[in-house]
Amino acid sequence: MLNDQDRIFTNIYGMHDRTLKGAQARGHWDGTAGIIKKGRDWVIDTMKASGLRGRGGAGFPTGLKWSFMPKESDGRPAYLVINADESEPGTCKDREIMRHDPHTLIEGALIASFAMNANTCYIYLRGEYIREREALQTAIDECYDAGLIGKNAAKSGWDFDVFLHHGAGAYICGEETALLESLEGKKGMPRMKPPFPAGAGLYGCPTTVNNVESIAVVPTILRRGAEWFSGFGRANNAGTKLFAISGHVNNPCVVEEAMSISFEELIEKHCGGIRGGWDNLKAVIPGGSSVPCVRGEKMKDAIMDFDYLRGELGSGLGTAAVIVMDKETDIIKAIWRLAKFYKHESCGQCTPCREGTGWMMRVMERLVKGEADPEEIDMLWDVTKQVEGHTICALGDAAAWPIQGLIRNFRDEIEDRIKAQKTGKVSAVAAE
Ligand code: SF4
Repeated sequence: MLNDQDRIFTNIYGMHDRTLKGAQARGHWDGTAGIIKKGRDWVIDTMKASGLRGRGGAGFPTGLKWSFMPKESDGRPAYLVINADESEPGTCKDREIMRHDPHTLIEGALIASFAMNANTCYIYLRGEYIREREALQTAIDECYDAGLIGKNAAKSGWDFDVFLHHGAGAYICGEETALLESLEGKKGMPRMKPPFPAGAGLYGCPTTVNNVESIAVVPTILRRGAEWFSGFGRANNAGTKLFAISGHVNNPCVVEEAMSISFEELIEKHCGGIRGGWDNLKAVIPGGSSVPCVRGEKMKDAIMDFDYLRGELGSGLGTAAVIVMDKETDIIKAIWRLAKFYKHESCGQCTPCREGTGWMMRVMERLVKGEADPEEIDMLWDVTKQVEGHTICALGDAAAWPIQGLIRNFRDEIEDRIKAQKTGKVSAVAAE
């Protein structure tokens, strides 16, 4: 289990003082100017050496992403945009940073912006996050008053401004290019790539979009060293990570742990075990609603990191939002609910996603009741394959994968439901 002295987030439960004074007492904003004075290359090289992979779901190496930004300006400004649109069902980790530990995010924003030659940072906040906005704005105001941001931020010689932008509650605005469109005042519709944001992002200028957690861990990594951070987790899966565990565990929680912790240890140490014991575990979605579910018996010994969950279990770490389902769960209905969500959130730009999400949801609706022919399971699988990889953004994949996970792992249950319907024995729950 991670030692308290190795935690980056020292106030994740809001038990301590979240003001600037409290944050400084816990070690934030310590020697920030000194870090900046070491220069851009040092910051980016250290981030690369730390092995930090983006915490927003895709797991792209953060230092490498920063290095794509132009070294010299061609006259255009550069921007850092922080994606605080956290809308993936099951994901609730960034909100804890913003409401209880906001200073580590703002300090990280300053350092990251400096490393990318950006004097301005926008934080794009999920529409429903009202208390988070208030807490973050209060922290930003405190930093301006203390001279930690603004002109000559923290006496580093770097000018830095940060603005909060409140979204209107659309899931698709968490996709980085849709987020940029929305920030520019347009409809939140994903852009075709290339050009990538590092070449032409916000207002056509070089831009990097990073997740809240990816930025909030930066100051501690730079203070404690790349080696310290990369000492946690397996090779290529370095660091500590916020896990958000929900569903049928005894104590759902958000907790910072070392990467590559086993699923069993995570659940036993922090969540008080599975409701009804391990034999009662049915399925787990290990990384937020868009990754495929995994059968319970395969999860017990699973290693919670990017490479294991993808390579060994055909799922993913995603945002590390772990959704646990016990044997009381109607798994077909649970996945139907996700299909309905993605259908609702599709922006409608590309045909496979616009039509496919609705089609998949309607078939799922019938599968819940068992009102289908067994051959339709293969047809549904084919449709998910026609959506996956054939769309502008990853929402198409996100809609296809949960259904693929269901068919791969629980085909027997779908078939049983269809048989039960034909013999008039479908349960009242499924038929609702
Ligand atoms: Fe819009 Fe879906 Fe296409 Fe993404 S995949 S751009 S959400 S229609």
